[in-house]
Amino acid sequence: MTEPQTEYDAIVIGAGMSGLACAIRLGMFDKKVALIEKHSVPGGLNSYFQRVKKDKEGNRVGIRKFDVGLHALTNFAKKGEKNKPLLKILKQLRLRYDSLEIQEQSYSQVLFNEKVLKFTNDIEFLVAQVKEVFSEEGERFEKLVKFVEEFDDTSLEFEFTSTKNELKKQGFSNEFIECLLCPLLFYGSSWENDIDLQQFVILFKSIFMEGFARPYGGVRTLINPLVEKLKDNNVDVRFKTAVKKIIKENNKVSGVELEDGTVLKTNQVYSSVGLPETESLLMKEKSKVGNLTFVECLYVFEKKIDREVNDSTISFFNYADRFNYECPKTPTDFRSGVFCIPDNYEKVESEEGMIRITFIANYDHWNKFSEKEYLAEKEKVKEQGLKLIKKLCPQDNRELLYTDIFTPKTITKFTSHKGGTVYGSPLKKRDGLTETKDLYVIGTDQGYLGIVGSLLSGITMANIYGLKGGL
Ligand SMILES: Cc1cc2nc3c(=O)[nH]c(=O)nc-3n(C[C@H](O)[C@H](O)[C@H](O)COP(=O)(O)OP(=O)(O)OC[C@H]3O[C@@H](n4cnc5c(N)ncnc54)[C@H](O)[C@@H]3O)c2cc1C
Repeated sequence: MTEPQTEYDAIVIGAGMSGLACAIRLGMFDKKVALIEKHSVPGGLNSYFQRVKKDKEGNRVGIRKFDVGLHALTNFAKKGEKNKPLLKILKQLRLRYDSLEIQEQSYSQVLFNEKVLKFTNDIEFLVAQVKEVFSEEGERFEKLVKFVEEFDDTSLEFEFTSTKNELKKQGFSNEFIECLLCPLLFYGSSWENDIDLQQFVILFKSIFMEGFARPYGGVRTLINPLVEKLKDNNVDVRFKTAVKKIIKENNKVSGVELEDGTVLKTNQVYSSVGLPETESLLMKEKSKVGNLTFVECLYVFEKKIDREVNDSTISFFNYADRFNYECPKTPTDFRSGVFCIPDNYEKVESEEGMIRITFIANYDHWNKFSEKEYLAEKEKVKEQGLKLIKKLCPQDNRELLYTDIFTPKTITKFTSHKGGTVYGSPLKKRDGLTETKDLYVIGTDQGYLGIVGSLLSGITMANIYGLKGGL
């Protein structure tokens, strides 16, 4: 790494996926770049952590490695395929496809009350499933696939268009719309009970048409080479360093002030912390904080799941009369969520087994709890998760060794996202521009989210504003 300096061509705030990609890309073209990250490790919402592993007597016997967020890498592509976002990203960041050791999912499914709709990385499989499970929607769904293929999802303008209204206009039933949207909302909507149409198209392609995969070794397999690239490209990376303030002169960005009072001067700032959070760094709060946050439960078992018991990769479930993708009135909504078995790939690094469950949560409840109430709600979440495991894996008799639960409060603690949001604000800045000249929003609130989306956002914003000089 280069020696710390105080003047840079560009400063990137946040070393999540978008910040990492943005800093690497700018560094590749000889820009003097600083990447400032509040936390001690990179990855942001898709980071990693470890916990001490103990035996039954409580003796330390090693460590367990966890991914914070990785259920699956979306946008699967085979080596050498044309026009695939994942391959474009790897090319732009000069990463080798083989270095990720990507494995395809077996299959995933939507469990919508009594209905089961399976999908793989082949859209034809889903078309056949729709014809079987929702026979009257089959032809319409084929047309929807064409509609998605022909839709221009590259527009940098943002005006919310309701996907639900569009799907109703196309004649789909409410039940089918909710079933189809269940995975897409869970994997990327910052809007309650709906999603912007362009975002829907992006997610439909990345989840249903390209599909899910997992790098062997989890998210570290992706993050470690990115950190190497920062070094190769002389990016000045500062962990455990928070930006306190973005400084501007005559409405043009001129630097940032760090928490310890150090001022770093720069011509450009790329902020990945979120739109309302960026506004706070400008001492001006305007944009709406999103309403959607989650609890995530990680269950570690003595061994991997028997595939006879359950061989799916991800199950998006809804057991309510209608699918309520909204901030619940209670602290946690157990009626719907995501059930992920990361063991169900061909090769998995750990001997132990894992199940991950995501439920929708209410930030205000979790944030206001006393210590006692907080722990009691976590216990409740753990029990509800175990009930779900019994329901979806009835013959699973493995011993449970360890549970880790993180809450909306944990998300805010480690990523500084207001309201514990994962998909950011309902307002997106697709062109990355802000009211302050040379201050750009990247990542989730630019409107590209998930691992692949955020990487793409960082690359695109660096290419447009750092390397080409503007739109
Ligand atoms: C539980 C969970 C499961 C998920 N599962 C998946 C999945 O399976 N597949 C998938 O593709 N996506 C998944 N996601 C979503 C994905 O992780 C995010 O969309 C993506 O990582 C967002 O990246 P980002 O760069 O936009 O923002 P972030 O990751 O939020 O990065 C922002 C960074 O800025 C830092 N920061 C904040 N304030 C400051 C400051 N003042 N100074 C310096 N640094 C600061 C934060 O610490 C953070 O590191 C999941 C997320 C969660 C939480």
